[in-house]
Amino acid sequence: MQYSRAMKTVLVIDDDAGFRKQITQWLGGAGWCVLEAADGESGIHLAIELKPEAVICSLHMPGSNGFQICRSIRERAGVIEQPKIIVTTGSVYATDRRSAIEVGADEYLVKPFKADDLIRILDLGQGRRPVAASAPRPPPPAYTILPADQPPRLKFWGVRGSIPTPGPSTVWYGGNTSCVEVRADGEIIILDAGSGIRPLGLALAKEFDHRPINLTLLITHTHWDHIQGFPFFIPAYSPHNKVRIFGYEGARKGLHSTLTSQMESPYFPVSMRHMPGNIAVTELKDREFTIGQVKVTTAFVNHPGVCVGYRLFSSAGSIAYLPDNEPFQRLRSHSGGQPAADQLEALKYASEQDQKIIEFIRDADVLIIDAQYDDVEYESHVGWGHGCVDDVVALALFAGVKQLFLFHHDPDHDDAQISRMLDRARQIVAMHGDALAVDAAREGLEYVLKSAPKAEG
Ligand SMILES: [Zn+2]
Ligand SMILES: [Zn+2]
Repeated sequence: MQYSRAMKTVLVIDDDAGFRKQITQWLGGAGWCVLEAADGESGIHLAIELKPEAVICSLHMPGSNGFQICRSIRERAGVIEQPKIIVTTGSVYATDRRSAIEVGADEYLVKPFKADDLIRILDLGQGRRPVAASAPRPPPPAYTILPADQPPRLKFWGVRGSIPTPGPSTVWYGGNTSCVEVRADGEIIILDAGSGIRPLGLALAKEFDHRPINLTLLITHTHWDHIQGFPFFIPAYSPHNKVRIFGYEGARKGLHSTLTSQMESPYFPVSMRHMPGNIAVTELKDREFTIGQVKVTTAFVNHPGVCVGYRLFSSAGSIAYLPDNEPFQRLRSHSGGQPAADQLEALKYASEQDQKIIEFIRDADVLIIDAQYDDVEYESHVGWGHGCVDDVVALALFAGVKQLFLFHHDPDHDDAQISRMLDRARQIVAMHGDALAVDAAREGLEYVLKSAPKAEG
């Protein structure tokens, strides 16, 4: 059909060509000029360029999904005249209907439907919804401002490495995989999305009730124990919340692609593009950036694939988070079979690399670091990418850290074993007569950063 401004126009955004053809036949016969787009991005572009009276968009398709299309069009209230938006979908779930209406859809039609149903909706109010300059659509709700005057603090929600280990032998330290919540200077920053992010999400939903949440998730790497909880993170399912995800491109795939892959069928029923939350994934290029008032620096650590540690600088001190790291020197000292000269070179290189990590964590108020093994266990796990207690205590002592948390507990370690490792760590510190405080990370444990008292005079 020719595009003619004399006719009422409707834009159909759907990746199903058969569906678009069907709609064109129905509406063409009813006096509408039908425009088509096969994906979200070109649909949004056409909606802005051609200003149709109505948009019919699928909820689920590649690229921008229906939620994002509604949001993008509604954000231009006052800039373009607002079309009537009808979401069409096979989803009968009440949560999808509610979310679509919340982000700006006028109607929600479950496929299959009849021509009459669609035409009746389109004729109601004759298409275009008047958007008077004097009565703009209300802006989306502002994100809830956190009190900036509260002291920065952190809370452990998942402390385990590799795989969740619930059960009676892990009740004290907890069985969830890596997730730490930081509240600092008005920001919510989440370190990793292991299974601990599920209870964190529930707690956030309860705390904020229906107020919009704005948060940042920093991913150290995409090994499963650091991302597996994200599909169960409730705040990512509310269109009012903003979830920014930062991390680095992996060895084989980009961050976005790895995060979405774990949610594709046959692994999970809801794919990431179907999550109604306002989710933005950014692959970091720089080693330094800011989240509000919080400066963040990163360092690549020794772990298979691409893995970083983060250091957050708050107004009351800094937190270094290196959940997976195998100190270089110990690893290289095990690389047997080399000529002595080569071995010496390897150790020199390893020492320089460890020194870089020490500089990265230098004078940190809090260090959360991989201490998966004890000294004896490490001997049979050389090259697995994880540290042992003796080495991380040494790193913390060299770096002048104030508070050390042993982290990424081995799934085979029960509470008694972790407590023994903690005792060992404290003994080493005592032998050095150092003031370093040591604890083993434990689910539910909170730590408040205190500003150093200002020098008198
Ligand atoms: Zn891990
Ligand atoms: Zn890992």
